[in-house]
Amino acid sequence: MFFAVISILPEMFTAITEYGVVGRAIKREQAMIHLINPRDFTTDNYRRIDERPFGGGPGMVMMAEPLEKAIAHAKDLAMQAGCDLDKCPVVYLSPQGETLGETVVTQMVAFDGMILLCGRYEGIDERLLETYVDMEISIGDYVLTGGELPAMVLMDSVIRRLPAVMGDDLSAEQDSFVDGLLDCPHYTKPLEFQGKAVPDVLLSGHHANIAKWRFIQQVKRTQARRPDLWEKFSPNKQQLKWLKDLND
Ligand code: SAM
Repeated sequence: MFFAVISILPEMFTAITEYGVVGRAIKREQAMIHLINPRDFTTDNYRRIDERPFGGGPGMVMMAEPLEKAIAHAKDLAMQAGCDLDKCPVVYLSPQGETLGETVVTQMVAFDGMILLCGRYEGIDERLLETYVDMEISIGDYVLTGGELPAMVLMDSVIRRLPAVMGDDLSAEQDSFVDGLLDCPHYTKPLEFQGKAVPDVLLSGHHANIAKWRFIQQVKRTQARRPDLWEKFSPNKQQLKWLKDLND
């Protein structure tokens, strides 16, 4: 999958490009991340990308022109990488956007790629956003100093869902939210920790009982912690049977 990230702080992205599952996906060319600095598209000696806001007020605003050229360059790279531009949206990371959640991530996994625009200062000239941005995505109702961390959060959440990126594809499928429930608890060695034992069923080797136990744990957790998710959950046939046993 293709990613172009437009940021004045491209160095920040080594946090994901060089480590962990995403770093490995890049080495294996399952994901490509191109870092584009809008300062490279300025024409003045100071490589200036921000100016004072019209109308006055605090802070600076990122100017449209260097970002316009950076987006054009990102689209060229996307086409060279074989992306259909209709399936490679320009995404502005913004606290005013749609909140990133499982539905958005699932939608994005199907894209050829995306061009991520990271704001700084007070934000970006509105005319650039109106002209070039296809989607605005927020990572939550709080304001950060820049769009770089949200862009990394977004890429991590999408890349780990690409086929064959995780050691075991089932591992992403079993995570919280994927089937509409929170994940079940997990245990590993030692068998006893601080006087607490591993639940017997997990040591039984009985796969059907383990699957049922895990599902019931997911249900109990979701009911207790996220009643909003539980209300929307629609169980399959097997899960309905397990739920009936739980309630009998
Ligand atoms: N003045 C803007 C507002 O209140 O909507 C906030 C600007 S913020 C200081 C600078 C940049 O950080 C934004 O342009 C955006 O790219 C990024 N940003 C901040 N919080 C974010 C969030 N919760 N989700 C996504 N991006 C965020």
